[in-house]
Amino acid sequence: MANGVKRREFLGSMAGFALLPLEQEKPELILHNANVWTVNAAEPRAQAVAISRGRFLAVGSNSDVLNLAVSGVQKIDLGGKTVLPGFIDAHSHPSEAGRLHLRMVDCDLRSIQAIQTALRERATKTPAGEWVLGFKYDDTKTEENRALTIADLDAAVPDHPVRIQHRGGHTSYANSLAFRKAGIDEKTPDPPGGQISHDPSTGKLSGRVAESANNYFNKAIPLNFTREDCREGVKLISKMLARSGITSATEAQGVPEDLRAYQDAHEAGELLYRAYCFINYHFLDPMLEAGVRTGLGDEWVRVGAVKLVCDGSISERTARLSVPYEGRPSDFGILVMTEEEMYTHGRKAHLAGWQIGTHANGDVGIDTTLRVYERLQRESPRRDPRFRLEHCTVVNDELIARIKALGAIPTPFSTYVYYHGEKMRYYGADRLNHMFALRSFIDAGIRPTQASDYPPGPFEPMMALESEVTRTDSKGNVWGPKQRITIEEAIRVGTLHGAYASYEENIKGSLEAGKLADLVVLGRDPLRENPSTLITVPIERTMVGGRWSFEA
Ligand SMILES: [Zn+2]
Repeated sequence: MANGVKRREFLGSMAGFALLPLEQEKPELILHNANVWTVNAAEPRAQAVAISRGRFLAVGSNSDVLNLAVSGVQKIDLGGKTVLPGFIDAHSHPSEAGRLHLRMVDCDLRSIQAIQTALRERATKTPAGEWVLGFKYDDTKTEENRALTIADLDAAVPDHPVRIQHRGGHTSYANSLAFRKAGIDEKTPDPPGGQISHDPSTGKLSGRVAESANNYFNKAIPLNFTREDCREGVKLISKMLARSGITSATEAQGVPEDLRAYQDAHEAGELLYRAYCFINYHFLDPMLEAGVRTGLGDEWVRVGAVKLVCDGSISERTARLSVPYEGRPSDFGILVMTEEEMYTHGRKAHLAGWQIGTHANGDVGIDTTLRVYERLQRESPRRDPRFRLEHCTVVNDELIARIKALGAIPTPFSTYVYYHGEKMRYYGADRLNHMFALRSFIDAGIRPTQASDYPPGPFEPMMALESEVTRTDSKGNVWGPKQRITIEEAIRVGTLHGAYASYEENIKGSLEAGKLADLVVLGRDPLRENPSTLITVPIERTMVGGRWSFEA
């Protein structure tokens, strides 16, 4: 057998030799005099990298790499700055968010007054009678410490219909004209699975609607994104991600418009991150008919997993739990799909060679999803299915053992502890030690990723690192300290593990010769930084495929 292996290796190297260009490949760019953290276990530290045709030609010491310099090569002295692999956001909604940023006011502001000013400004640029829309509003984040009211919105914008969506996506707030346009008045009953809130003292509309009541507005608002808008959205979010050091992202609820927008933006030279585009299960059948499956595409735009949804949300407290929410003894959250539905869609995808990514937040949701995955693997074993548990927030030892046995990949929220600290009390101190459980996953030999879920969570990787290392929110409260990980671990989670989650660990996620030249240059070394100031480490430059996508 040994001979056989040797012969295959020999033939392999012959084939490789035949493909080499006549001249030896020369670097186009050398970055040197840097503090390089490679995330390559075989050679964790380096000083310089040489880049050719979008890939690393060499990673090593200054002298080794500078030795490769030929005339015409560009050399950049990084003055001792820290270089890391580009960050990989393994679950977010960038294309969708880009479209919303184009059309809507960003209401991630710290006072109701500031939100009113931003809306008023937008209204002055909007033809009378047309909608003024907002998103990323969070009722827990304004200094007035109360929710927006219909009166706030009427005062800000009286003569345009206004609708503001909550950051979590399940509730929204509107002014009087908007309610009229949506066909809702004080007497409109709550729709099934939805709520129209009233002021308890007067019985008048409070301005807030929840869950399925949002559909009244969704139907009344003509969003009509054109193909151009979708491309523009990707272009816009590309710049935002590049500025924060992200070089790859998963579109976690992709629809055909997203896949097309990515192709269009890439062709126009506007795509600045590598997209792994999930496909919502509603579009699975036409994809199967067209012979498409996970992995189709190239290193810029690739078809990702099929997306299923098992339960509710963490930030808006609807995830399905085995133990009820603190202070709400009969509230266990909700299941969105039945186990049988998940199995039916999952089986189709699994048999056709698709990766499956299922939204599962609560321990009951995760248990149900794992049962479906285990059944699929038992009935139709596949060699490397890399089942994904999107979010995988509330776990226990039994679930972790099953995740490990299945080789499944959790993608827990990276910035929630830091950013959504005020919502953590609904889960209780004990449960927080089993949430976003990076320590437990890593100790069990599982490969969790970094994932922002943007817009619901901020995408800045430096916030993710601080959140994961300190388990401390922006006000200094500590949530679930048992799940703290080291900064080295957090960087690996945010780079190489993200690549593994999309079957791309051989081409990205670490700085190694042959891999794609995706990296970030930081203003300070996060490995020497006080963990409580990691969020302030500046991103100075971002590179994707050998080109700077951002330079401060
Ligand atoms: Zn999501």
